[in-house]
Amino acid sequence: MALKPLKPGKRIALTDDLATDDREPKGEAAEALIAPLIERLTEQQVALYAEGKQALLVVFQGRDASGKDGLTRKVFGPLNSQGCVVSNFKRPTEYELARDYLWRVHQAVPAKGTIGIFNRSHYEDVLVVRVHDLVPKAVWSKRYDQICDFERMLTENGVTILKFFLHISREEQKDRLLERLHDPLKNWKFQVGDLSERKRWDDYTEAYEDVLERTSTDYAPWYLVPADRKKTRDLLVAQVVAETLDRMAPQFPRVDPEVLKIARQWERETTARKRIDE
Ligand code: AMP
Ligand code: MG
Repeated sequence: MALKPLKPGKRIALTDDLATDDREPKGEAAEALIAPLIERLTEQQVALYAEGKQALLVVFQGRDASGKDGLTRKVFGPLNSQGCVVSNFKRPTEYELARDYLWRVHQAVPAKGTIGIFNRSHYEDVLVVRVHDLVPKAVWSKRYDQICDFERMLTENGVTILKFFLHISREEQKDRLLERLHDPLKNWKFQVGDLSERKRWDDYTEAYEDVLERTSTDYAPWYLVPADRKKTRDLLVAQVVAETLDRMAPQFPRVDPEVLKIARQWERETTARKRIDE
């Protein structure tokens, strides 16, 4: 079953039970479906690149350890890196803070012909910024509409936008954070800040509920991804991306008739010369 875009203006209570969906394939069954989808994505990417007229922007948001990195690696890692750019949004630098919050985001919007992945995004400016009071409410509360306006402008200029919220349960996050602590290969990912963010679970829940309610639009929809199961998560996202690229229907450019003429002439000449040589 494919994910459906969230209806604009609809409020969803982000309860833990929404982090799994037993109707969806999981484990090996999901894995078997992902492989051909990734194959399809690599083919679609060639057409998008060759056409060079439109771009696809994929936004990933989710709590710490919700799988933004793993999903990016699994689904987009196999694509041609010449046409697929991943942008990470960390705490803004002083230089970035001296400018409007969309400034750094706009620069990372994918070029025509390419796919851009946002691992975190401008939504942090109504999530972490709101939860930690980094700017006054009077400032962040205006951002929902500003973000919608920004995204509408982009879509009217050839950028198709998909937004995925990777929803994990409290229990699953605990397990993944513990794994980061215990596994020497994952240690580097653990940040003390992850624990203080976890303490603010309910504040983030409310902030995310507002984001989904106020910024899912017909032109740049949010998808709620049950993300407790990694393979199900990857499959559901890959499906939406592949379907969207189908709908974008990039066309290979036709060969210029002048170029074709030159090619035919050259072909005639080389084959004639070959005959003489023989
Ligand atoms: P990570 O995704 O684990 O590399 O962590 C990046 C951190 O940067 C997260 O804790 C984000 O909440 C934080 N971050 C991203 N954007 C902003 C922002 N606009 N303001 C403050 N913190 C941010
Ligand atoms: Mg982190």
